[in-house]
Amino acid sequence: MSEKIRVAVLGAAGRMGATVCRAVLDAPDMELVAVIDPPHEGRPLDDFGVAGTGLTLAMLGPNVKAAAPSVAVDFTHLDAARGNLRWCALNGVHAVVGTTGLTASDFQDLSALFDGERANAVIAPNFAIGAVLMMQLAAIAAPWFESAEIIELHHDNKVDAPSGTALLTAQRIAETSTDWTPDPTQTHALPGARGGEGPAGIKIHSVRLRGLVAHQEVLLGTTGQSLTIRHDSYDRTSFMPGVLLAVKSVAGRPGLTLGLDSLLGLGEG
Ligand code: NAD
Repeated sequence: MSEKIRVAVLGAAGRMGATVCRAVLDAPDMELVAVIDPPHEGRPLDDFGVAGTGLTLAMLGPNVKAAAPSVAVDFTHLDAARGNLRWCALNGVHAVVGTTGLTASDFQDLSALFDGERANAVIAPNFAIGAVLMMQLAAIAAPWFESAEIIELHHDNKVDAPSGTALLTAQRIAETSTDWTPDPTQTHALPGARGGEGPAGIKIHSVRLRGLVAHQEVLLGTTGQSLTIRHDSYDRTSFMPGVLLAVKSVAGRPGLTLGLDSLLGLGEG
């Protein structure tokens, strides 16, 4: 039997991180070797709903290196992720990144760090396979419509807006069609009422509501008809098949891979 993939989880005490720990523990071909979450350093992972591992939350550093992870999964916060990813690349640990908010300039820095020699990285703003398909379908449909708007809806603890998925969806739509009718609005009784402006002027509206997890609607309109493509993640387990696929694939994908499309054998929209 081949060796298990040694996995470290960054942000292990968080909502996504704890779910990733459980998924790794349940995966027969993976081993959870380190859990990192500096604000909770020294506390057992058991305190965060993942019982029986004997692991204690740590800082990134020599102890984590000694645990010899081959892949680190990062679901943290933007500033934390920037530092964590640098550490991973410089220490030869492949990275799977779900943290959202990374910018084009971050991707430029990261492609220099994850150069395929030191380590590789897979970064996806949405690991739910249905969400990847939603983006693909929106890109396929775009050339047949003149209006497009995106509504993304998330839980009330999300700290960034709009979601990375909404931005990537707008980018994918803009890549397949640039021919959109201009916004007719001339007065705004409330600032921001028409949402944020994404690529090709596509409007993005962000809803934050207690009880939600992660949801998105892509609205496409043309004369006399509209098409709505909606995806719902009801539970954080929805992201786990995609995360585990990335953990298994990252060593074989030199450099930086953005999005799950190529891992799923789909073209990039
Ligand atoms: P959370 O606040 O529950 O968890 C983040 C954790 O990171 C916290 O426990 C925090 O203490 C920890 N942390 C802070 N600094 C750290 C550091 N330097 N190193 C390691 N850990 C550190 O947040 P969440 O809801 O789990 O979301 C985390 C990220 O994942 C967000 O950016 C969110 O948008 C993103 N997300 C992505 C997907 C996806 O599919 N890509 C899905 C859901 C959420």
